[in-house]
Amino acid sequence: MTDPVFPRIAIIGAGLIGSSIARAAQEYGTAGEIILYDASPDVRSRAAEIGLGKVAPTLEAAVSGADCVILCVPVGALGAAAAGAVPAMKDGAILTDVGSVKSEAARALKAAADSRIHVIPGHPIAGTEQSGPDAGFATLFRGAWHILTPVVTGAAGEAEALERLTAFWRGLGAKVESMDAARHDRVLAITSHLPHLIAFNIVATAFDMETVEQGEVVKYSAGGFRDFTRIAASDPVMWRDVFLNNREAVLECLGRFSEDLAALQRAIRWGDGDMLMREFTRARTIRKAIIDAGQDSGAVNFGRNVPKTEE
Ligand code: NAP
Repeated sequence: MTDPVFPRIAIIGAGLIGSSIARAAQEYGTAGEIILYDASPDVRSRAAEIGLGKVAPTLEAAVSGADCVILCVPVGALGAAAAGAVPAMKDGAILTDVGSVKSEAARALKAAADSRIHVIPGHPIAGTEQSGPDAGFATLFRGAWHILTPVVTGAAGEAEALERLTAFWRGLGAKVESMDAARHDRVLAITSHLPHLIAFNIVATAFDMETVEQGEVVKYSAGGFRDFTRIAASDPVMWRDVFLNNREAVLECLGRFSEDLAALQRAIRWGDGDMLMREFTRARTIRKAIIDAGQDSGAVNFGRNVPKTEE
């Protein structure tokens, strides 16, 4: 437990990420009061039922008096949420978000904001394939990167606002770094967006084959395919918005990916084992670097092969 960084925060969107922030802020004491609002009445009642914080009946009621407003809605909904929130926000408050695409988030937040508030878009590099208020958990951000892409306006108190938001995310257990929004979008296009696109596509291909192979794709699905299905089970609205809003960077990565895939295809066709060995060996070193950097566990098959204890 630390002293609260903000006396009051407002979380807009009480799904996986919003509810995880609420749980973590409660558990680590980083916010005095937590107010939530969600567009869905069902999500609002569930958020109240499971004690995520105080649930407001309207967006305006949620944000008024908050020192920091965190928009946890899909990227395509950020503009409307920001436009609804800003007029009710108090002077000097921080407007941030958790959207997976930062150039578009910055544009949407800036368009809605006025000079009374600080706009500091952000993105936690943490998540799961699940959605909704029950899917969140307090430790989601522990040890994960949180990238801030501050909009520099030169307004009074800008540096202090960035420091406070950084302290808030550190209080939730995250490692915080600031970055230019365009750079964030290029990096995430290859590390997150393209892998999801490939997963959606491989599962779609297998689904089509499934009708041909009479259930054998599911029955004999081995680790590789199973891992793709986990990624492809992610929220369709969230991912539709990611691809619509990071189009240029994703298309650039996809172009390079397609060229490299064609080279592998050619190596298989011509029996070029040396080329396959070279590429596969290089890929292994990246996996090792990720484990060495503490970004994943080195356990064999993600630890799935650990024998289950007898009930
Ligand atoms: P989620 O579980 O689907 O939750 C989003 C919630 O926001 C839903 O309850 C949704 O209600 C509500 N909502 C939509 N529009 C709204 C609006 N205008 N005002 C208030 N509430 C609204 O989604 P999530 O996974 O938490 O993702 C939220 C954000 O986090 C996205 O921008 C995503 O890019 C980012 N993010 C996600 C992950 C991840 O792994 N999931 C990781 C990092 C960042 P309805 O369902 O009724 O629309």
